[in-house]
Amino acid sequence: MASGSTYLDDVRMSPEVVDPPRIEDTTEVIDLIGDHIQHSPKSNVVVASNVRELLECPVCLNAMYPPIHQCSNGHTLCSGCKPRVHNRCPTCRHELGNIRCLALEKVAASLELPCKYQNFGCIGIYPYYSKLKHEAQCIYRPYNCPYAGSECTVVGDVPYLVTHLKDDHKVDMHNGSTFNHRYVKSNPHEVENATWMLTVFSCFGQYFCLHFEAFQLGMAPVYIAFLRFMGDDSEAKNYSYSLEVGANGRKLIWQGVPRSIRDSHRKVRDSYDGLVIQRNIGLFFSGGDRKELKLRVTGRIWKEQ
Ligand SMILES: [Zn+2]
Ligand SMILES: [Zn+2]
Ligand SMILES: [Zn+2]
Ligand SMILES: [Zn+2]
Repeated sequence: MASGSTYLDDVRMSPEVVDPPRIEDTTEVIDLIGDHIQHSPKSNVVVASNVRELLECPVCLNAMYPPIHQCSNGHTLCSGCKPRVHNRCPTCRHELGNIRCLALEKVAASLELPCKYQNFGCIGIYPYYSKLKHEAQCIYRPYNCPYAGSECTVVGDVPYLVTHLKDDHKVDMHNGSTFNHRYVKSNPHEVENATWMLTVFSCFGQYFCLHFEAFQLGMAPVYIAFLRFMGDDSEAKNYSYSLEVGANGRKLIWQGVPRSIRDSHRKVRDSYDGLVIQRNIGLFFSGGDRKELKLRVTGRIWKEQ
């Protein structure tokens, strides 16, 4: 330990001899990283984009990863497409054989490319072979639209999706961390093509999706209410929520942790990670002649310390 700090002191005591002043050094390093992304010499950019084109499979147009195959004329092909071309090179129709293109695999290994979610704010630059792995986990990767019960294919960051839910799905938006909701369904015996209800809550500077759904649990029709967090799982864990439903002196209470919208509403629903209400109890809570479902669900969201 002592020798380590002595060494550091030594370096610090003679900066003028070796290097320019320290502080400027630091900024320079940052600038250099920035340069590397944006203003690297034109020729390098061209080389990189040419290599990227070389790495595009001529059949599926995806980026190729080892093993990369080639025909005897040198045309390349990805390993996913190889079994599908019946041993004929799709470019020149010659027999394909079993030749691997090691040179291209090695060139690919030397490539460093920005994460494909650069436009969403990721500044990472990754070696070709680890880029895919990063992108699958990149925290800037866009979210799928959290609206349930539709085939919506919209993706985007959280602010974009909030606007989309409001404008395109006409979802109710609420400010605040407590809520009191009534769910009314005139024909509670229809569970096929369930009711999907979504309300978005804004509190703690975050957005939460409250889902209410009817579905078939085995033979039994049930209702479920649960909360999803519009953000990543790591942040979702900082919050808790509770839901209550009841009438006639009876009450069901659920306390849970909101799930990230990275998990589909279906996945959350099928794991029963929410307030599950059996239809019989739901109808009992509804009062009246059991012809109509009328549930009052109250709830609260809070931040864990
Ligand atoms: Zn391919
Ligand atoms: Zn060929
Ligand atoms: Zn990224
Ligand atoms: Zn949508």
